[in-house]
Amino acid sequence: MSDLPDIPTLRLCSMLASLAFFGVFACLWVGRRDEGYFLHWGGGSLLYAGVICSYDYSAHTPLQDGLLYALLSASTLLVLTGVRRFDGRAPFPVWLLLPMLVSGLGYGVPAHLFGGDSAWARIGGTCGSLLTMALVGGRLVLERTRSAPRGRRIAGAALLGYIPAFLAAIAAEAFGTAAVNMAALIPMLADQLLLAVLNLGLIAMPGERAQAALREAALRDPLTGAWNRAGLAALAPGLLRPGTAVIAFDIDHFKAINDGHGHATGDRVLAALVTGARAVLPEAEAPLARLGGDEFVMLLPGRSRAEASWYADAIRREIRALAARSPDLPPWTISLGIGAIEPGDREVAQAIERADRSLYRAKAEGRDRAA
Ligand code: GH3
Ligand code: MG
Repeated sequence: MSDLPDIPTLRLCSMLASLAFFGVFACLWVGRRDEGYFLHWGGGSLLYAGVICSYDYSAHTPLQDGLLYALLSASTLLVLTGVRRFDGRAPFPVWLLLPMLVSGLGYGVPAHLFGGDSAWARIGGTCGSLLTMALVGGRLVLERTRSAPRGRRIAGAALLGYIPAFLAAIAAEAFGTAAVNMAALIPMLADQLLLAVLNLGLIAMPGERAQAALREAALRDPLTGAWNRAGLAALAPGLLRPGTAVIAFDIDHFKAINDGHGHATGDRVLAALVTGARAVLPEAEAPLARLGGDEFVMLLPGRSRAEASWYADAIRREIRALAARSPDLPPWTISLGIGAIEPGDREVAQAIERADRSLYRAKAEGRDRAA
């Protein structure tokens, strides 16, 4: 027991750790002022350090300590407002006031009724903190998002990590036995570790998003959003198995569209082609790549050649319908060829070659058809 650090020392460590993270967020924000979420996260760290520091100087009236619990909750909520800003959402929804209110009143009401030093007051305040941690941590962990999912889940997990510590503290207050009293130390002992995990998770988020954006830019065709050759090469090994069908397609007389209506119109036809193909089969079911010019290839994992044939005709019909609905574009059609990965194939390119040969047959047979 005597080897355990005392609460004021642990509090000082937490305060210093939190101030250090405030410094890091402030420095990051100075370099990138348009990334205002750093201000939220830095503000949360600063507020947390301020609350911990103020606790020793509070006169422990119901009002003062209630306010401190509400501000403690606010320091956690700033993590969430920063993440919302990171996502481009309105950072301050009105409902965020609720956990602050619950934390403040959770301490203030029992303190008013039973005295500021009562276990009930501390339990009430701690329940408010627990609710805020669960709310923010739960949202960060469970929210389905494509932007920086790992960083936010790490941060959310750190917040959820406070919950057992808070439960231990509540048990210690409720039962008041010497053995359980040790548990009151746990939140402070866990604090520096969880602060580090929380803030490192947050710091990782912008880098994770930038990396994903760079990857997208390197692997996708900017005009149509389809995968480019590098993207196809990255996807292909995962699709190299018998039972993957391939549809190759190409716009008929595309040169004439460019020559007669201009390159910009040609670009819009290319974009419309991808929109039409995606309307038949979404990206998640059938990745689509632009090999160059007006040549595209769609990979259909788990589809037979007969199914691919049906989808190819569906795409052709969808493109016809799309062209008929687009009076601003010249009339246009596509030709398609079907192939499939066969046992013994060493590369997806072999199936694409087969689909290409079918495509040339479709062109030779008069275009606007699937072969
Ligand atoms: P076919 O029916 O035999 O396919 O005839 P085609 O005229 O479509 O011939 P081909 O597929 O070889 O034509 C490809 C043309 O695509 C040539 C080039 O001018 C044009 N092209 C290539 N990239 C782009 C692009 O990014 N935008 C536009 N607008 N045109 C492009
Ligand atoms: Mg063409």
